Amino acid sequence: MKKALVCGAGGFIGAHLVRRLVDEGLWVRGVDIKEPEFAASGAQEFVLADLRDREQCAKALAGGFDDVYQLAADMGGMGFIHSAECEIMRNNVLVNVNVVDAAAEAGISRYFYSSSVCVYRDMAVGEAELTEAQAYPAQPDNEYGWEKLYAERVVSAYGRRGGFETRIARFQNTYGPEGTWRGGREKAPAAICRKVAEAADGGEIEVWGDGSAVRSYTFVDDLLDGIRLLVESDRSEPANIGNPEYVTVDELVRTVAEVAGKDVRIRHVDGPVGVQSRNFSHAAVEALGFEARVPLREGIARTYPWVAQRVAAAAAARTG
Ligand code: NAD
Repeated sequence: MKKALVCGAGGFIGAHLVRRLVDEGLWVRGVDIKEPEFAASGAQEFVLADLRDREQCAKALAGGFDDVYQLAADMGGMGFIHSAECEIMRNNVLVNVNVVDAAAEAGISRYFYSSSVCVYRDMAVGEAELTEAQAYPAQPDNEYGWEKLYAERVVSAYGRRGGFETRIARFQNTYGPEGTWRGGREKAPAAICRKVAEAADGGEIEVWGDGSAVRSYTFVDDLLDGIRLLVESDRSEPANIGNPEYVTVDELVRTVAEVAGKDVRIRHVDGPVGVQSRNFSHAAVEALGFEARVPLREGIARTYPWVAQRVAAAAAARTG
């Protein structure tokens, strides 16, 4: 039986990935600094470890693995990325260097790294799509993106020297049930779902910026399809994985409100917005057979009820 180690298995995408790999028949050990928040891990084994620490990385890899999926990161939405840049750069560089170094020592066969489209520069609305090669010359918008770019290079160098295969995906903004939905690390789709769930019908919600920033949002099941196709391919260069449906932040809010069946007014307030626009080529991952199957409205229809349930439970807990 093939063995996979999933680092970051207590997090949103990692927890979903564990279930996908187990369903595919792999033996999986999940590792994270915390237990999964919303459901028991589906992994055959779950290990608590701080992957910033090289010795704990070696312990996580004990017993040997065919594949390592490295998704552990100190991360969050734009609010967190802008307010915690030193923590992000320190913690993530330690995790990324120590996990790949321990993986090389453990003699693994294949290493998957979860990078981000934050490695790209800001774009103007309407600009032609960027290919993976156009991450260079590098000009990421934030320090999280710089660290991701550096980590991509670390992984590739270890692969070349260590004699194992490397796969690098640059994820676009990903959402779905079981993602962080409050607390300051949540990303736009979960934050908007929460705000709409908390608002009364006919009420108002606050949205950071002027609402015109353009993004695309990938439903987590689609992302997992892309990860698995990439890992099983022979592409060692980075590949973007995302949904080609681009919308403004205001359009995202309108989609969530429609799904919720609420009439919601938007009040634009100052806040960390991030880049103005995004438009990425998916030709590389599409050449492997990838297709984003879940349109934004359907993905929100599968995510909003999950967030709304949590909002209702939190409100019930507050009122006793
Ligand atoms: P997440 O925060 O839900 O999961 C990350 C997990 O890493 C968390 O469970 C956290 O506890 C764990 N972690 C952090 N520091 C650790 C440490 N020192 N030791 C062990 N575990 C540690 O985030 P996610 O959305 O599931 O993202 C997974 C990966 O995908 C990350 O690398 C992230 O940068 C990347 N990514 C995500 C998105 C997105 O939209 N969600 C977009 C681009 C890239």
